Amino acid sequence: MTSGSYFVARLAERARSPLIAAPVDFAGLRDRYLSNYLDPNQVELVCQAFLYAEEKHAGQMRRTGHPYISHPLAVSEILASMRMDHQSLMAALLHDVIEDTNTSKQAIIDRFGQPVADLVEGVSKLSRIFKSRAEAQAETFQRLALAMAKDLRVIMVKMADRLHNMRTIGVMSDEQRKRVARETLDFYAPIANRLGIHHMKIEFEELGFEALYPLRADRISRAVSSAKGRRKELMEEVRTAISSALMREGIQASVHAREKHLYSIYRKMRAQHKSFSEITDVFGFRIVVSQVDECYRALGVMHNLYKPVAGRFKDYIAIPKKNGYQSLHTTLFSMHGVPIEVQIRTKHMESVALHGIAGHWLYKSSGTSEFAFSQQRARQWVRDLLELQQRAGNPLEFIDSLKNDLFPDEVYVFTPKGDIKELPRGACVVDFAYSIHTDIGNNCASCLVDNNPAPLSQQLQSGQVVQIATVSGGLPNPEWLTFVVTGKARSSIRDALKTQELSQSIALGERLLNRSLASVNRSIRDFDFRRLRRLLKAFGVRKLDELLAAIGNGDQMAYVVAQRLVSADDPASETVFVEHDGPVNIRGGEGLVVKYARCCGPVPGDAIVGHMTPGKGFVVHIETCANIAEIRRRKSSDIIPARWSGSTRGEFLTALRIDVNQRKGVIAEIATTLTDTDASIDTLNVEERNANVTSVIVSIGVKNRTHLARVMRRIRAIGAILSIARCSQ
Ligand code: MN
Repeated sequence: MTSGSYFVARLAERARSPLIAAPVDFAGLRDRYLSNYLDPNQVELVCQAFLYAEEKHAGQMRRTGHPYISHPLAVSEILASMRMDHQSLMAALLHDVIEDTNTSKQAIIDRFGQPVADLVEGVSKLSRIFKSRAEAQAETFQRLALAMAKDLRVIMVKMADRLHNMRTIGVMSDEQRKRVARETLDFYAPIANRLGIHHMKIEFEELGFEALYPLRADRISRAVSSAKGRRKELMEEVRTAISSALMREGIQASVHAREKHLYSIYRKMRAQHKSFSEITDVFGFRIVVSQVDECYRALGVMHNLYKPVAGRFKDYIAIPKKNGYQSLHTTLFSMHGVPIEVQIRTKHMESVALHGIAGHWLYKSSGTSEFAFSQQRARQWVRDLLELQQRAGNPLEFIDSLKNDLFPDEVYVFTPKGDIKELPRGACVVDFAYSIHTDIGNNCASCLVDNNPAPLSQQLQSGQVVQIATVSGGLPNPEWLTFVVTGKARSSIRDALKTQELSQSIALGERLLNRSLASVNRSIRDFDFRRLRRLLKAFGVRKLDELLAAIGNGDQMAYVVAQRLVSADDPASETVFVEHDGPVNIRGGEGLVVKYARCCGPVPGDAIVGHMTPGKGFVVHIETCANIAEIRRRKSSDIIPARWSGSTRGEFLTALRIDVNQRKGVIAEIATTLTDTDASIDTLNVEERNANVTSVIVSIGVKNRTHLARVMRRIRAIGAILSIARCSQ
């Protein structure tokens, strides 16, 4: 037996101990946690979820040798100790029933309602991501996880799940143990850190390190305890000295020695090439007080008591870390010149440091009965961070990183086998098909998105599973060119269409044009093309066959040709009905995806026109857009009248130009105002005009003109705003 396997055996032994594997039964969970902070009816709901999960997992065992339900119970205990709301606890109890028992989401909706079912499904999806075999970057995974967690409770449940799995990792095979440990160090610990949940981050790191390098972890842990033993008396003296010095100044504080964590020692030894003793001989203390001003007073007391080490003082209270962490850090020479690291913070800061986003609400909501950790709270989190950053300065860099986290430009979609494809936002099923293989793109015929049939034009969202059905010998449809967004899909479609025979192009064009015309009860035969020569000329062709070939190989769009044919015949039919995100209808006909011009950013309520842009499809502009004026001069027949249908829904991007007086924090204030008025931020750019005036160009998502007007009114009310206007109008 090698020494390595000895430590592995010890990990396994610990994993099987009931205290770790099955730390709590439902009565314990209820009495120790739930009844302390939940209403009786909420406790009852959690109990129902427990009974349901217990029944579903009946007969299943974990490798630790305990009934399966011990795991969901342990996961909900972790969350209950953080005082998470009852829905999170229910989701924790139910988190494995979709994946591991044959229970449908619908069954959970029927039994426990939509919010709980959404959480359970979200956790299952996240699990799928981490099971994926794709070799994606750690950064990508973190962004993906955060992007998907519009409801942060999903992340919390998933992290608690992983935490318990890490505690019992010793029962896994060597290979599994190494893979899961690596993943925990690479993904889970950084996410916990990003969300500021310190105690989880530390536990992920300690457990991951131990599982990955059992031998090294053991050596360091022995060295730590022997160092502690050597210094024990000295450290107790120092602690007493600190306590009494604070007391003399009338500062109520708790003072305790900080544990050094094995993984952080290991990392420092490697990164800074330091010896073990150089790192472990520095001891840490934490001083927790009630008020912020007491932090600074306590700091003064400490600097009086012991000599500070120059250059080691950090004020994270005035300038908090990105995840909200606040504290004063200083290093001092204590008795006999032994260096000590001291952290000084308030109870609130301590709570945020330990629990991160969760801590914020733990603290704020204490005393109130309603404690919902919901999307509303997630927005509050953004606002809090903005506030913190406003005080810290440099809001631009911050907004940039926030934008990356909350409004990523990519979507991440799964193949049925669990591989991840990264696509630009707005990508559709056809883009996905081409991202797998050109042949799959060329031959794709239909698809299932999350097991439901969907049109090939459907825009994809992160976390969806897409299954493509192909036909052999298929050809791409020229109309796909109106909705694909990736260069790969576009060029592949064009290449494939070029290779077809002229007769094939004509036949395809004829079929497509007839289908478009059928929606207005017409067909090609109804038109006398000798009378429509001018129209043919407008499309750059001399006869009908050439026009049909142009449609068939993707140079012209069938619905545009149909529209022009119909309106040439009947001038009253010129209006196209534009619906958001859906097809443009020629009186309810052929489908195509509408795009909204970035130059003018039309929103419902604006007077609009459409323009057929090669390779982009039907693009909607504001009637007065400068680009439209240009096109109108060159070729007014390219402009197609359009109007909003009555039932537009969703978000429309438009750009504002805001001139502001240079003042610290004003950009964060604009961002906060936008969030407050429910406008989403897409991009934000800043140009310095001169010493006093800065232009902020912000692209935002709004519902319609009324919404936009309200947003502009609110921004105008901010003190430093000089002017605000829509771009390109
Ligand atoms: Mn689980």
